[in-house]
Amino acid sequence: MSQKQRKPLGIWGQILLGFGVFILVVGALLWLFQMVLLEPFYRGVKTAEVKGAAESVVRCLEDDDMKEEVREICLNTGINIVVTDEVGRMLAGWKASEKESYLENLSQSRSALAALFNDVNLQGGSKLLVAKSPFVNQDGSQDEVILYVSVVRTPTGLNRMVAMESVVTPVDSIRETLLVQVTVLTVAMVVLGVLLALVIARRISRPLTEINNSAKALAEGDYTIRFEEQGAREVRELSRTLNYAAGELSKVEGLRRDLLANVSHDLRTPLTMIKGYSEVMRDLPGENTPENVQIIIDEAQRLTDLVNDLLDLSKLEAGVLPLEKARFNLTESIRQILHRYDKLADYRFPFHGEEDVWVEADELKISQVVYNLVNNAITYSGEDKTITLTQQVEQGKVRISVTDTGEGIPQEKLKDIWERYYKVDKEHKRAQMGSGLGLSIVRNILEMHGGQYGVTSQLGKGSTFWFELPLAPSQGELGEGSAR
Ligand code: ADP
Repeated sequence: MSQKQRKPLGIWGQILLGFGVFILVVGALLWLFQMVLLEPFYRGVKTAEVKGAAESVVRCLEDDDMKEEVREICLNTGINIVVTDEVGRMLAGWKASEKESYLENLSQSRSALAALFNDVNLQGGSKLLVAKSPFVNQDGSQDEVILYVSVVRTPTGLNRMVAMESVVTPVDSIRETLLVQVTVLTVAMVVLGVLLALVIARRISRPLTEINNSAKALAEGDYTIRFEEQGAREVRELSRTLNYAAGELSKVEGLRRDLLANVSHDLRTPLTMIKGYSEVMRDLPGENTPENVQIIIDEAQRLTDLVNDLLDLSKLEAGVLPLEKARFNLTESIRQILHRYDKLADYRFPFHGEEDVWVEADELKISQVVYNLVNNAITYSGEDKTITLTQQVEQGKVRISVTDTGEGIPQEKLKDIWERYYKVDKEHKRAQMGSGLGLSIVRNILEMHGGQYGVTSQLGKGSTFWFELPLAPSQGELGEGSAR
């Protein structure tokens, strides 16, 4: 049983769908209002008009020129009006058109008017009636009329009946016109909607298609590719992000290439030495000297160090090396590290750190930081072969600095040296020393501890690498604290 996966709609399809729904809704609303609700709307408006006119008539019932005023209202509104008293005597009666009028017929008979008065009076004072006119037009149609009768008592106590009659023009003819209009409008909307959807979709999708092509090239390893920053804001942002990603990828790629070159060279040099010396020692018995054996041991050590660095860094970066934090005496730890350098007789390692400070950290890893910094300082140290270590305590923190008087580092390279595999002077220093991993390991360890670190350097004068760790209370303080 294979279930076919439906292809998702493209931008063009989605926008078109959106417009389609929109047009459908607007069209339906138009149709509803124009076609279905037109008649009730119209009738409602007409009824309100008739009632309004009746109120105007009521207001002028006691005026001297009441008759004239009623005529005026009749002509202005096109409503037939009759005013009587309670016994059906006509006080005013006006017809707005030549058309036959139900009201006119009624007013021929005084008794009928009086009966209407009584009837309406009994029903609460007013009566509204919408009905077919009893008269047939020439074309056989029958008008619809609104009849509105109101019985009032004037302020001076006169009883009056105001009867109004208005013809509701049939809306059928209007409806036909409107139908054509709505149809034309709908067609226009559909055409416009499709065109608009096409334009919008193209504007959005073209840059996306280009980004897609560039991203494919990027995926295939073309790191020089640039993403055009064009189109909508979000698309521009996407391009910017992808450009950033491409930049980072190309950096990593460069580092990877460097690593391969470095590591293979760094592995080959000691291996060549070991192989060469071993062969010489095998073939020439006289060469089997302790010095030569030492060279082999030293080279093997270099290999071991390199492989260890690589392993350490990859473990640190993968986060599989957890911090084993404990309180320890940092000052003592540094003294012990420096002690191991005693055999480098021609180097001096002055250490300015009088009082012992305690920190809460992973001692092994912090030692590695100090080792790496001191080793670098030795590698790049100057003629005087002095590496100065300083310990400063300030605001609950201890700062350890390692200063050499070597060649220094150009300002613009200061940021890069912490990157893995980075070396300032690739050509000359490579054969001499390290793999470019030492500072990267330092950075990783210090960041794991949340410690600050940095470097200041002057070309030709030397560099100072430093790091900071928060202080833990010293052994003495702890003891006092618990005694209190
Ligand atoms: P490496 O194994 O090459 O020493 P590091 O990561 O320890 O790698 O150092 C990166 C680069 O920083 C070195 O190649 C060197 O160019 C520069 N560097 C590090 N420490 C010093 C220093 N004390 N003086 C001058 N340059 C240094």
